Amino acid sequence: MGLIELKQVNKHFDGNPILRNLSLHIEEGDFMTFLGPSGCGKTTTLRMIAGLEHPESGTIVIDGKLADDGRAAFHKASSERGLSLVFQSYALWPHMSVFDNVAFGLTMKKLPKPAIRAKVEEALEKMRILDLTDRYPSELSGGQQQRVAIARAIVTEPRILLLDEPLSNLDAKLRMEMRAELKRLHRELKTTIIYVTHDQVEALTLSTKIAVFFQGELVQVDTPSELYRNPATLQVADFIGNPSINFVEAFPVGAPKDGRLMTQSGLGRLDVSCESPPERGLTLAVKPEDITVRTAPEEKAIACTVYSVFPAGSETLLQLTAGNLLLMAKLLGQVELDTDSQVWITVPTEKINVYDAATGRLLS
Ligand code: ATP
Repeated sequence: MGLIELKQVNKHFDGNPILRNLSLHIEEGDFMTFLGPSGCGKTTTLRMIAGLEHPESGTIVIDGKLADDGRAAFHKASSERGLSLVFQSYALWPHMSVFDNVAFGLTMKKLPKPAIRAKVEEALEKMRILDLTDRYPSELSGGQQQRVAIARAIVTEPRILLLDEPLSNLDAKLRMEMRAELKRLHRELKTTIIYVTHDQVEALTLSTKIAVFFQGELVQVDTPSELYRNPATLQVADFIGNPSINFVEAFPVGAPKDGRLMTQSGLGRLDVSCESPPERGLTLAVKPEDITVRTAPEEKAIACTVYSVFPAGSETLLQLTAGNLLLMAKLLGQVELDTDSQVWITVPTEKINVYDAATGRLLS
């Protein structure tokens, strides 16, 4: 059994179903990220784990003990669940110094003053803000306030740390810095972290596991590399890709043989991995970074025309047309190519994912 187990959880707001049949297993020490577009139910799931919302049915078990089971009369209080929550808005007390904000939880527990000082200083040190001890929140930058909020959450040494879009109010540079801090913190504290974001890069870079939500349903739980390599549905593939993954409609040519299937599409004839193709169409998903672009023809390469070039410093995005297809390719470095010039592309077939076009489910 994992540290946190959600089984068949259903949650409504004002009679509207928000989460349907959610089952999720979180291991001790995981950095589990809830990822999905706005309004898909990530925060609500986090708040149910925290004990701030309650399901209509299903069970939530934390550390082997029932925390919620959908009965209005029964839920374990947040304070008894062994967790700390950091809000997107930081929620620092403006009239208290950094020290007092961080000390608050320990003061409530009536710890002796020297023990409080030692623990607060340790938490501030971990977040590298010991020099801000006597400041007030209004005297801090957004990034510094976020560090104080996290120091306040870790000072009580919770077994589970819940973070709800903690970096969304920070600029790009600070976000990058804080990502590094969070990764280091997870390594040092070995705490179980549950993290909510709609930023797929953040999810892929920070997490040990990612749970992808769409419209109140959990569609995939996987490691970042598995999620990147094998998105379970076309919707997940589309959400994860940056820039967006290319979808190419295809149909089978003949029957599959030894797990391989010949397909016909705008990319020509491609032999892809597929055990049992559906009767209707297929969709091939090709990542922009898997496309190789050459300026001279080559056997089996597909002729394309350069539609647009987007230089982005360390990489170049190319929009290409091949017949009716519009493809995005991502190349490393700076590429000297003119609009309307002809190029030839190849795609390694082992990197192509094959989906059932009708259901959107991954087949290979
Ligand atoms: P975001 O990334 O925008 O925070 P989210 O995936 O975290 O989105 P939730 O905040 O969990 O989504 O909200 C899921 C749905 O539940 C939304 O449609 C939202 O409007 C609705 N909702 C959330 N809290 C309440 C509430 N207290 N009362 C009514 N509806 C709510």
